[in-house]
Amino acid sequence: MALAGYPLGISVQAVDVADNKIVDPVTKQVINNSLNRLIEEVDTITVEFEHIPEDLLELVHGSGKLKPSVEAILTGADRVREKKLLEKLAIDNCPFEIITEVEQLDAAVEKLGEKLIIKASRDGYDGYGQWRLQNKSQLPELKEKLSQLDLHKIPLVVEKMLNFDRELSLVAVRSSNGDIAYYPLAENLHYQGQLHVSIAPAPQVDEALNQQAKTIFNKLAESLDYVGVLSVEFFQIGQQLLVNEIAPRVHNSGHWTMQGADTCQFENHLRAVRGLPLGSTKVTSPTAMINIIGCKAFSRDMLSIPGCHLHWYGKTPRKKRKMGHFNLCADNYSELGKTMQALAEYLPVENFPMLKDEAARLIKL
Ligand code: ADP
Ligand code: MG
Repeated sequence: MALAGYPLGISVQAVDVADNKIVDPVTKQVINNSLNRLIEEVDTITVEFEHIPEDLLELVHGSGKLKPSVEAILTGADRVREKKLLEKLAIDNCPFEIITEVEQLDAAVEKLGEKLIIKASRDGYDGYGQWRLQNKSQLPELKEKLSQLDLHKIPLVVEKMLNFDRELSLVAVRSSNGDIAYYPLAENLHYQGQLHVSIAPAPQVDEALNQQAKTIFNKLAESLDYVGVLSVEFFQIGQQLLVNEIAPRVHNSGHWTMQGADTCQFENHLRAVRGLPLGSTKVTSPTAMINIIGCKAFSRDMLSIPGCHLHWYGKTPRKKRKMGHFNLCADNYSELGKTMQALAEYLPVENFPMLKDEAARLIKL
């Protein structure tokens, strides 16, 4: 976001919510300033992460400079609030039960069936804070595990495990005067609860599906009087979209826009929260975004592949941590598949388990 702001003359400073230190988001150097002074000095405050300690969120809310609103951020950060909003707006979502006692799991199984995904209502991401129940026989073991948690403090959302056709997401941006610019739907491939690959525009999307996604986005964004980039994750079953979750921020499934769209999601977020006109979301080429997960440094030889772009975040490696991503651009899906095939030759299959099959699928489109 800082890099996207630079050419617009927007300077971004970051607050590390773990210790309230102020850092330069590019060099990651600590800046010697107090949080209160910074809040006073800046024009606008926004977030790129919804799991923010309550006192910090209250403090920035109090400044009147926070966009999107505290309500929108809290809704994205809390699955119970999120489900309540979806119900209120009559937006189709995954059948669920909210539980605050482990014993309520039995009733949830009766109601939703034995294949379940149990999600902590707060602080979960990338599949963390989730447990899966495949059949009733695993119930005692699961209950034992969940009994370690304080479910009154952080209730669980128990969802039916859906057998969906695919996952899609809509990343779009709304300005304070109500203008909305939509990126096309992206198709998202997950592995062990974590996003590995996004293809944008998603193949085989007809106008009706597109419209369904936009209508859902509009309902959510308007009810939250949303300003900035808002992302909505969907499960597609036949011609129906169910909302999985929403994210009040730029989204991993929108990283393709850095090469594949006229204006990237980061620039559009900054434009919205700074009250500037929104940028065109026109697609410049079909793009695949490939997350680099849990990998240490590797050779950069793949940059010889035409249309291959690397974004390396410079983070300390950790198992399952997103270390960076590739954006691959090509003229059409079939060329994109070939580019992906070429990339797969450079990368360890254990960190990139979906590349070869996905490349083969794209080539056939
Ligand atoms: P996170 O905040 O970790 O992204 P999600 O709720 O999006 O949490 O879950 C991560 C992934 O787990 C989803 O993208 C999807 O692949 C899978 N998943 C989540 N909920 C369900 C469900 N009810 N049925 C089937 N798969 C699910
Ligand atoms: Mg998700």
